[in-house]
Amino acid sequence: MFDTVIAHGTIVTSAATFPADVGVTDGVIAVLGRGLAGRRTIDAAGRYVIPGGVDMHVHLQMPAGDGIVSSDTFYTGTRAAALGGTTTIVDFVEPLPGETLLAALGARRAEADPQVVIDYGLHMTIGPAEIPKLGQVAAAFAAGCGTFKLYTAYDFRLFDGQVMQAFEAIRDAGGLPVIHAENWDVITTLVGRNLAQGRTTPHWHPRSRPALMEGEAVGRVIDVATLVGTPLHIFHVSCAEAAARIRSARQRGLPISGETCPQYLFLDQDAYDAPGVEGCLPVCSPPLRTPVDQQALWQALAAGDLQVVTTDHCPFTRADKARGLDDFSRIPGGVPSIEMRLSAVFQGVRRGLFSLNRWVALCCTAPARLAGLPAKGDIAIGGDADLVIFDPERRLTLSTASLHEQVDWTPYAGVELQGWPEVVLSRGEVIAAKGVCTAAPGRGRFLSRKPQFPI
Ligand SMILES: [Zn+2]
Repeated sequence: MFDTVIAHGTIVTSAATFPADVGVTDGVIAVLGRGLAGRRTIDAAGRYVIPGGVDMHVHLQMPAGDGIVSSDTFYTGTRAAALGGTTTIVDFVEPLPGETLLAALGARRAEADPQVVIDYGLHMTIGPAEIPKLGQVAAAFAAGCGTFKLYTAYDFRLFDGQVMQAFEAIRDAGGLPVIHAENWDVITTLVGRNLAQGRTTPHWHPRSRPALMEGEAVGRVIDVATLVGTPLHIFHVSCAEAAARIRSARQRGLPISGETCPQYLFLDQDAYDAPGVEGCLPVCSPPLRTPVDQQALWQALAAGDLQVVTTDHCPFTRADKARGLDDFSRIPGGVPSIEMRLSAVFQGVRRGLFSLNRWVALCCTAPARLAGLPAKGDIAIGGDADLVIFDPERRLTLSTASLHEQVDWTPYAGVELQGWPEVVLSRGEVIAAKGVCTAAPGRGRFLSRKPQFPI
């Protein structure tokens, strides 16, 4: 007699699709079989039973300067994630100047621990102020930060020699670097030129961040990683040029991986031409690109050139976005996607681009392995019973009314998706069902992570 049995469903993992019941005891997958009996039975007939989604790139309650903070808290953001079928997230620690990495980790955990409804991990950010602290990387790794975030843009921007030093320290600790790669020097020059010529609308945002130079920056950090001898994961690939650099590296057998996000798969740069604040809302970096890039990214997911879909979820309110109405470079960058990711990528299955198993690999299994979460992202005996009963027929039109993110707009308003989570379990507990999240704040756990690569 199991605690819970999920009966009559079709199990989909990254490797196989087969009919079976799932028996759950003490929050763990105890058995896969037929005719199982449980104290509680959830009928999954006509549904897929997949591992809980793993979104290894989100920014909840993230300070963005000028008193602006991303609008989803660790409670509202993880609640929306759960309702969309994601049962694990990885957010970020951003140390303050003068703060040790461990103190910064402690402070971020103090914000997250009382609020999260799903399990979570944290990437440690290595900015220029952390270069003198690289001796602390091993301690951060031991404290559970298995992944380290680097930038070649913004105030976090590292120069190439600093990237090399950081890669060396992360390699020596056994960690995995993850990176935001754009060419900041070219971007700041183009932004300055455009603003000086009165080109202040968001139309000029993508035109100040050329896809060609994203490709250049991705290629450059791959080369530095190769020089150092470290694996590397490329965040939020937005264009064909960057995907091509990752494909080329993998063809050479290098331990390089890459992700893209729903905004780059569903939206394009024409969104910036909407009048007034509407054009400001979808500003994110890298920017939305062309429909040609969009198709290239879907193909890269299908071909295995990109291994993961994350969201880079980072919502800002309409009022915060409006601060950049007269100057596109002042618009806080980021869009909300945390709730729609599983269904968004499922559309690739519906369009015949890739298999159910590839969908699960992209959203669950590969990010779990890469982020160092061996108990997540799969349906395996002894693994955490993080499970999604997914209704492939359910249709949903996205809107601020149908989504649960704490933000007063969505870039996907009017987008129709088919396939949506019906019931979501985290460690055996039903945390969301039929659009209602019943999980208590603080039930989620911090996960200490040791990445596995290459994937
Ligand atoms: Zn991000």
